[in-house]
Amino acid sequence: MKKISLKIEGMSCSACSVSLEKYLNKQDGVVNASVNLVLAQAQIEYDGKKLKLDDLNRFVSEAGFKSAGEYKLDLENKKDHSKIKLIIYLIILLVLMYVSMGHMLGLPQIPYLQMMKYQKNYALALLILTLPFFIYGFDILKSGFKNLFYRHPNMDSLVTIGVFASFIYSTINTILIFRGHISLVENLYFESCATVIYFIKLGRHIDNKSKEKTKDAIKELVQITPPKAYKRVNDEVIEVTIDEVEIDDILVCKPGQKFAVDGIIVKGSGHIDESFITGESTPSKKGKDEKVVAGSINVDGYIEYAAKRIGKDSTISEIVRLVIEASGTKAKISRIADTISSYFVPSIFIIAILTFISYLVFGSLNEGVISFVTVLVVACPCALGLATPLAMVVSEGVCAKNGILVKSSEILENASKIDTIIFDKTGTLTYGDLRISKMYNYSKMKDEEILKYVATLERQSTHPIAKPFKEIKTDYLIDEFENIAGIGIYGVIDDKEIYVGNNKLFTRLKIKNNHSAHEDELTKDLNSVIYVVIDKKVVALIGVKDIVRNDIKSVIKDLKKQNINVIMLSGDNEKVANLVGKSLGIDKIIANDLPEEKQEVIEEEMKTHSVMMVGDGINDALALTTATIGVSVNSGTDIAIDTSDVILMNDDLKKIIKLIEISKKTIKIIKENLFWAFFYNICMIPIAIGLLKGIGITLTPMFGSIAMTLSSLTVVLNSLRLRKMD
Ligand code: AMP
Repeated sequence: MKKISLKIEGMSCSACSVSLEKYLNKQDGVVNASVNLVLAQAQIEYDGKKLKLDDLNRFVSEAGFKSAGEYKLDLENKKDHSKIKLIIYLIILLVLMYVSMGHMLGLPQIPYLQMMKYQKNYALALLILTLPFFIYGFDILKSGFKNLFYRHPNMDSLVTIGVFASFIYSTINTILIFRGHISLVENLYFESCATVIYFIKLGRHIDNKSKEKTKDAIKELVQITPPKAYKRVNDEVIEVTIDEVEIDDILVCKPGQKFAVDGIIVKGSGHIDESFITGESTPSKKGKDEKVVAGSINVDGYIEYAAKRIGKDSTISEIVRLVIEASGTKAKISRIADTISSYFVPSIFIIAILTFISYLVFGSLNEGVISFVTVLVVACPCALGLATPLAMVVSEGVCAKNGILVKSSEILENASKIDTIIFDKTGTLTYGDLRISKMYNYSKMKDEEILKYVATLERQSTHPIAKPFKEIKTDYLIDEFENIAGIGIYGVIDDKEIYVGNNKLFTRLKIKNNHSAHEDELTKDLNSVIYVVIDKKVVALIGVKDIVRNDIKSVIKDLKKQNINVIMLSGDNEKVANLVGKSLGIDKIIANDLPEEKQEVIEEEMKTHSVMMVGDGINDALALTTATIGVSVNSGTDIAIDTSDVILMNDDLKKIIKLIEISKKTIKIIKENLFWAFFYNICMIPIAIGLLKGIGITLTPMFGSIAMTLSSLTVVLNSLRLRKMD
């Protein structure tokens, strides 16, 4: 059995990856194939005796795509001009529409291009303005023809045939206009070709953006580990690249540096910030024989560690692999329009061809051609192409106004179905770093003044506990400073002797502690406590901890009211997690989870529920990618933000409720849009075929085209109703 990853070119939507995967899995000798749309890659397990690489490449091209050989992780985002192109083609499209339809709306006409006066100029201008769209939509047309050729027509095929049918028909009419049949000027449908191509490209552009984001996230994960390590060789420390590190090499990590590989501490100790794996906001102290993970940061100590897991085996590589896999499965969620068009497309072909043949047999060739084109024109899915993306664009706008950034259209479809929301604790439900939660002032001084003294001292300290004080502004000058190991810090300001530290200060200073009741209270509530002693008098007791964000309680209450299950997931220990979770009214609390375990919890929930994960850290990236919808807060790490589908600006978790509400409305509008898009088609097709000729109702391609425009207009107006949700 052999395994290979092929790079695939030409996949543009989830329907492509699904059809390629199905096709590959059908082939004799292929054991298992899985296609990842985001990374444009096909993972194939096959029988090496039966198949060669050439056979696999052939299968890929038979399915309508191109294999570019073996896949290498290419994380370079290509320079993207698609936005500029969208704008340029929008301008061309608007000019085209103005020339062709401006007069119908009573707009001033362009000299020498009036439809009824200068028929030749008019027809030629429309033809010329339409041609660039064939270059712009080349990928759609190519894929349409290919899929048609290999007999699995998709949306692209219907678009291709529709576009070509109206283009060829309009071009023939243009030639005839030049030969003097000027009345044919009413039978030109160039703008419908351009519109269809433009809107499908717009829809694709929106989808592509989210794929690029996933790539960015993977790239950042790869960059978490430093490229270099410091290796101890006898008494010397030399700089080496990560590739040169071997198992059991002794590496050095100084304060502020990152660990280069997974390993075990052999010498020294320090506070290590592992928040990207554990989500734990406070760096934990580690010493000899304890494990360190590549990418974590040594905050203060000098540490030597033995390399244990390097390269592919390291924790971070494992996370990268899992994120890649998860991003692949997610892209497979098929879209409503894709599903419908898989039935619609072949039906329309059959109807158009049958109509053509019937006219050949029972009528004339001319009637046959006109009816064939009319059927395709009225069936051409312009409104269908618009139905989903347009509603999405409008509702993405509404979301953005509400501080909710939605990265892909599928999200707005899926958010309405969410019945379980899993919150990460640290950084999501809480702020994610230590903050002053309570202060007891035992002196006559003002709180601010005491805090200024503390801040002046803490500025000199590298201990993690000092962080919340470093943000306080102070203009005091410090005369003396000393670190008192295991206890705290000491300094002299304005001739005052100031101590800041834990209750061991009392023994050291030989003074009595009258405040242990307050200390107990703070400790029970999971605070780290800090005493402030000035000139041997206890002036204050300060509690610092990671505190819960505003309004969370009411958000959770509202979600529960809507029958949504709320779960809290945390890398922290059970005690901390339970205390926070229970205080917020969360019933299901899962603690002590590593990234892979978080993913397992989500996968388990996803068996029976539609799951939204809300997180903020690198340790959540995998969970965010796996969940039906990943939501990150804006203050989270870049990786969490990139692997998520939704970003909550201002970290406002209340907006989750708004998102679900907008999504429900969007789905309703999309369904209505699809109904209208098809309603016109379905009513018009029998007329286009000529079934109602008996009662005097017929349809020319021109009226077909007007009907199509009307259906698009309905879709546009209907989608704009979403704006009312602001
Ligand atoms: P360490 O062993 O370095 O983690 O320090 C032990 C204890 O000393 C800490 O848990 C704090 O209670 C106290 N401590 C150390 N540094 C500071 C500081 N800069 N400010 C306040 N307390 C400190």
